[in-house]
Amino acid sequence: MKIFTTKQELKDYLSTIKAKNKSIGFVPTMGALHEGHLSLIKKAATKNDTTVVSIFVNPTQFDNVEDLKKYPKTLENDVKLLKSVSCDILFTPSVEEIYSEKITSEKFNFDGLEHQMEGKFRDGHFDGVGTIVKTLFEIVTPNKAYFGEKDFQQLQIIKKMVQKSNLDVKIKGCPIFREKDGLAMSSRNTRLTKEHREIAPLIYKILKKTKKKFGTENVTKVNKWVEKQFKKHPLLELEYFTIADEKTLKTVIIKESNNKYRAFIAVFAGEIRLIDNIRLKINN
Ligand code: AMP
Repeated sequence: MKIFTTKQELKDYLSTIKAKNKSIGFVPTMGALHEGHLSLIKKAATKNDTTVVSIFVNPTQFDNVEDLKKYPKTLENDVKLLKSVSCDILFTPSVEEIYSEKITSEKFNFDGLEHQMEGKFRDGHFDGVGTIVKTLFEIVTPNKAYFGEKDFQQLQIIKKMVQKSNLDVKIKGCPIFREKDGLAMSSRNTRLTKEHREIAPLIYKILKKTKKKFGTENVTKVNKWVEKQFKKHPLLELEYFTIADEKTLKTVIIKESNNKYRAFIAVFAGEIRLIDNIRLKINN
């Protein structure tokens, strides 16, 4: 596996790959890699000639300074994991390499997708995400890029950015990879206390029950039921639960049979903010 820390060296190397007409699959990450990330990388590796992974903890997408400071960094282990899944290229630039002196985001218009859910609770988050992904796409120029449904709103926003800016890259969504007990894998899970780690799988349990209830009950009733469940568990603090249209991400009040819906949730387990989501079906 080749490791690059500068844009120019990576670009020069990739131009030799492109000259041979080889396809490039790209997986952007913030490191502290786990099986969820690896599932994206494995997918990229089976569908492309060359797989590029980036590890960059992007400061402009953090609205919380402490979260940024404490974001886990495990580069040595990440390199081992990447070698085990036959990643071809790792790009790990410094903040200066990406942003020079101005650590600021471009302002984006994602046709309203950015104002829902995470956008409401994390100020400027999606401008930061748009800025870094666009920058990385310009450097890597991938044919395909892989994103997890774990961050479903991010996935839809990246698709929108690609469509609106006419970028020549295919965006592929990949399913959520979970721990055996159902907790969605996340780099932040390692920061959970023992007690919070024990209770955290409840989030997915509630989402699965939500899926069942959504088949037969109205949305208001489902919302109230979820809120009630979290009130019983003082270790978990519900930030938001919303059932939304998959395409517009707008909160749904009355379900219509032609639309696709998903339930989205953000929960604080102590200091750690966890997000998850699940696909819903009417009459399941
Ligand atoms: P991150 O390092 O958290 O920025 O994540 C990098 C990519 O991995 C994003 O596209 C995430 O959606 C994806 N990802 C993170 N956790 C999971 C998971 N548990 N299952 C599937 N994809 C994931």
